Amino acid sequence: MHELSIAQSILAGTRTALTPYPGARVERVRVAVGELTAIEPELLRFAWEALLDGTPDAGCVLDVEWRPARQSCPACGVPRQRPEHGWLMVCEECGGALRIEGGQELDLLQVSFVLPDDEEDADGTDR
Ligand SMILES: [Zn+2]
Repeated sequence: MHELSIAQSILAGTRTALTPYPGARVERVRVAVGELTAIEPELLRFAWEALLDGTPDAGCVLDVEWRPARQSCPACGVPRQRPEHGWLMVCEECGGALRIEGGQELDLLQVSFVLPDDEEDADGTDR
């Protein structure tokens, strides 16, 4: 399952982010997932839950921010409105080939965790 290995790499990135905070318990992880990554957000959340089940971090929420790919015309220099779930073949104005931007994201945006001492909320990444 594609999403399980993605969830594992998100978890590995989360652990790396928490290296300076031994014993921290992860509460919430926010990731950006691009349209072109072939990741299903629902499957990713499911894989995440399965991965953390039975570990101290079980119940940690995975927030998935969906990032659609965009199309723009290099000649006209303007973004073109894509049909939902579809692609434009050429620029409506000049007939030129369109450029695809974005949609490749798979980024760990934010890790929220609790320290064992004070159970106070803290953030491992910049907002
Ligand atoms: Zn154009």
